[in-house]
Amino acid sequence: MKRKLRMGMVGGGLTSFIGPVHRKAAGIDGEIELVCGAFSIVPGESKATGDALYLNPNRVYETYQEMFEAEKKLPADQRIDFVSVVTPNHVHFGPSKMALESGFHVVVEKPISFNLDEAKELQQLVSKTGLLLGLTHTYTGYPLVKEARKMVADGKFGKIRKVFVEYPQGWLSTLLEGTGNLQASWRTDPKQSGMGGAIGDIGTHAANLAEYITGLKITEVCAMLNTVVPGRLLDDDSSMLIKFDNGASGVLMATQVAAGEENNLNIRIYGEKGGLEWKQEEPNSMILKWLDRPKEIIRTGMGYISQDAKNFTRTPAGHPEGYLEAFANIYRAFTKAVRDYKPGVKLNTKDYDFPGVDDGVHGMSFVQTVVESSKSNQKWTKLD
Ligand code: NAD
Repeated sequence: MKRKLRMGMVGGGLTSFIGPVHRKAAGIDGEIELVCGAFSIVPGESKATGDALYLNPNRVYETYQEMFEAEKKLPADQRIDFVSVVTPNHVHFGPSKMALESGFHVVVEKPISFNLDEAKELQQLVSKTGLLLGLTHTYTGYPLVKEARKMVADGKFGKIRKVFVEYPQGWLSTLLEGTGNLQASWRTDPKQSGMGGAIGDIGTHAANLAEYITGLKITEVCAMLNTVVPGRLLDDDSSMLIKFDNGASGVLMATQVAAGEENNLNIRIYGEKGGLEWKQEEPNSMILKWLDRPKEIIRTGMGYISQDAKNFTRTPAGHPEGYLEAFANIYRAFTKAVRDYKPGVKLNTKDYDFPGVDDGVHGMSFVQTVVESSKSNQKWTKLD
C-alpha cells in the first residue's frame, strides 16, 4: 500500500481535549491523513471543526452513523482505512461497533467501553471480522517504557516480586463539574463515564502500565474507592493492593484530588536482582537499581538503548520527546499492522506492540472488579 492511510474521526471537536492530540500524533510520521469526521455532539461544531482543519465539507458529518453509511459507499481509493474514536466513554462502543461492521479498522480511546459486556462484544467482533483495533493506552508508547518491558522480559531483574504504581492528578480537587467544565462534566457523570470515575479515567492507565512493563496480569484486588469532593457522583480517589499472576504483589493508587499534582504517573518495579523507576513527567530518564552495584540512570536515544526502544524514538538523545511522540508511537505500530493487513488473513497483533481489544476487555474487568471490591468487606476480589 504505497500511500498515506486515510483516517476518519468520531469526536474531537474544536473545544475537546484529546481529539487534537490524536490529530497531531497521527500526523507526526507523515503516514496518515485525516479525511473525514463526525467531530461533535454540539450542533454545528462538527462543521466548524472540519472547516478549521480544511477538510472537504462533503466529508464532514453531523453524526457517526451518517459518516459510516457514506464512507462505506465511497470507492475503495477514497474511503477511510480506519477511524479514531475519541468521544467520552459512553460513545466508544457504538462507533467502534459500526466501524468494524462497515469494514473499517478502529483506534479507540481508553477505557474501551462503558462496561465489560460492551468490551466483550467488541472483542468478538474483532475476532469475527479479523479487523484491527488499537486502544490508546498512551503511556506504553514511551521509548523507556518499551526499554523497561524488554529488560524485564530479558530477565535483567530476575523474577518480579513487587510493583508500586501511582497516578496522582489534582485537577478535580474542587467540584469543577459544577462550573460547566466539559472534560470534568462527563468524567464525573455515571451515565457517560461508566461505573468508575478516577479508576476508569486514570486507574486503567496505571494498571495497564504495570502489566505492560512486567508482562504480568493483575488477578486480584483489595480496593478502596473514595468520593472526596462533596456533591461528586463517582469516585475521585482510589488505593488498592494488587496480586499478579506470577505471585507478585503491588500497590496501585489513582487519584484526581491530589491538589497541585499534574500527571505524575510513576512506577517502581522490583525483581530478585534489582528494579527500575520511571516517571511520566520526566519520561526520558529511567533509574535502574541493583542488589550488587550502584544505581544507574539510562536515557532515551542513547547508543546503549535496545533496538525495541530505538524503533520508537525520533530525535537524538538530549532532544526530549514527550506525550505527543508517545501517542504517535501507538499510531506508528498500528499503521504498520494496517499496512500488513490482508482481508481474510488473521494478523498476530502481539507482533506489532500496540494495546488492543484484549487489553480493553481486561481494563474493563479491572474497573468492574475494583468497584465490586470497594463495596465488599471481603479481603480479595478476583478479576473476571
Ligand atoms: P472532551 O469532552 O474534551 O471531548 C469529547 C468530544 O467528543 C467533544 O468534541 C464532543 O462534542 C464529542 N462527542 C461527544 N459525543 C459525540 C457523538 N455522539 N458523536 C460525535 N462526537 C461526540 O473529552 P476528552 O477529554 O477529549 O476525552 C475523550 C476520550 O479520550 C475519553 O474516553 C477519555 O477517557 C479519553 N482520554 C484519553 C487520554 C489518553 O491519555 N489516552 C487522555 C484524555 C482523554
